[in-house]
Amino acid sequence: MAKDYYETLGVAKSATQDEIKKSFRSLARKYHPDTNPDNKEEAEAKFKEISEAYEVLSDENKRRMYDQTGRVDFGSGRSDFTWQDFSHFNDFSDLGDIFRNIFGGNFGFGAGSDFSSGFGRQEENLDLVTNLRVNLEEAYYGASKSIKYRRNETCSHCKGTGSDDGKLSTCSVCNGTGQQRIVQGQGFFRMVSVTVCNTCGGRGKIPSKPCSTCKGIGSVPVTENLEIKIPKGSPDRLRLRVKGKGQSNFGRTGDLFVILNIQEPSGMRRMNDDIYLQSEISFPEAALGAEREISIFKEKLTLRIPPGTQPGEIIRIKNAGMPHVNGHGSGDVLVEARLVVPKHLSQSQKELIAKFGEENGKKHSWFK
Ligand SMILES: [Zn+2]
Ligand SMILES: [Zn+2]
Repeated sequence: MAKDYYETLGVAKSATQDEIKKSFRSLARKYHPDTNPDNKEEAEAKFKEISEAYEVLSDENKRRMYDQTGRVDFGSGRSDFTWQDFSHFNDFSDLGDIFRNIFGGNFGFGAGSDFSSGFGRQEENLDLVTNLRVNLEEAYYGASKSIKYRRNETCSHCKGTGSDDGKLSTCSVCNGTGQQRIVQGQGFFRMVSVTVCNTCGGRGKIPSKPCSTCKGIGSVPVTENLEIKIPKGSPDRLRLRVKGKGQSNFGRTGDLFVILNIQEPSGMRRMNDDIYLQSEISFPEAALGAEREISIFKEKLTLRIPPGTQPGEIIRIKNAGMPHVNGHGSGDVLVEARLVVPKHLSQSQKELIAKFGEENGKKHSWFK
């Protein structure tokens, strides 16, 4: 019998995204393991359930698949929902504390390992995180950049089992539990700690004959060369997920997370999707108004200086800024008028300006 995600979240089949989110949030708080010290396990299980339901229903594609088929395929190599599925959520900023508390680490970049360590089955974090420098122009137009890094890839000879003939036997040290219990102290004061079995590495199984290619490890080191597509309008710190390009361990493979580090050129600042810059404007341009061409990367834009522009005034060029990364349209270009007073004037220019000053009703003894 398939799980009813709508029932889990207590929403109607026709619920809007807002309702789903709202319900998930209140349930997430309710079943926060820290607020349920007496029935932590139950709360954790419940929390996991509502999280799974939320992951499906908050994603229109998964929701449709679920509505039509009653199930959702979470992708290859993953038999059940894991905390790493949270990593692509980006609307959790106000739930940050909850996740920090549960997972005991920073919820966000590269904290994948913390997602699974909180409770349930301990899983090694196989995700990799790397930073990628991108200049603003590449973010403006979109780009493709190559990265090179080292990772462990599933051994093709043994298909990640670590066994030459594919056969595995139960680890005799931990009897297949993958855990080792270490008892310290005696009598009343006894402390039991549970650690990962270091004979089988927590698998509970060992190859009868270690694979000749990977020496029984199940993976081999490789140098990976990837082309990373930088979406048009990428914001700084955007995190791109490359599925299945993390570390491999006995057939399980994590993901690679590429965090964009967007560099602004000098004289240009990005403010959300607006681009801010300064432009020198002469007094005649400011006073009379003028039209002038300026360039943003490869774009030629027309800067329309209105008559009577004041120093520091912002002139807006609509829709010429950064493209919105999740849709159509763009931000604006904001040009701050830097009024420049000329330092070197010819005699006739001096005369004209003096004349202008006098016509304006000012009586001075000009330095001309
Ligand atoms: Zn192998
Ligand atoms: Zn073992």
